[in-house]
Amino acid sequence: MKISEHFTLEELTFSEAAARLGLDNTPIPIVITNLGLVVTVMEQIRTLLGDRPIIVHSGYRSAEINQAVGGVATSAHCRGLACDFVCPAFGTPTEAALAILRSEIEYDQLILEYGWVHVGLAPEGLLSRQEALTKRSPWAAYESGIRA
Ligand SMILES: [Zn+2]
Repeated sequence: MKISEHFTLEELTFSEAAARLGLDNTPIPIVITNLGLVVTVMEQIRTLLGDRPIIVHSGYRSAEINQAVGGVATSAHCRGLACDFVCPAFGTPTEAALAILRSEIEYDQLILEYGWVHVGLAPEGLLSRQEALTKRSPWAAYESGIRA
């Protein structure tokens, strides 16, 4: 089901770990509402990156699945407020993260991770922190800023 011009609910709720572990990742209504906010921002990012295809690695993850993949318990993914993605036709994750950093796009957290970009949004009604971080490996601490 399309939830914006270029994004579907299926790609924002698909979880390889859920499929592998037989876990349910069906979003509850508030999560679907939040994913609507996420795809609005993802459409802005898609336009910023030259209208090139975005490959979503992960959107919503239930708390159970998030734990199974080693995500932090407070992850915005668990509320449907985050998207991990790449845009190979634009460039590397570093290049995409820097483009977003230099844009006017509003986000709570922009994280350059090891192999993809994470964009997290603030829950509706809360201020966006516009926080940019880099995480170089699953074990690395978060560093401030987008660092190549
Ligand atoms: Zn993420």
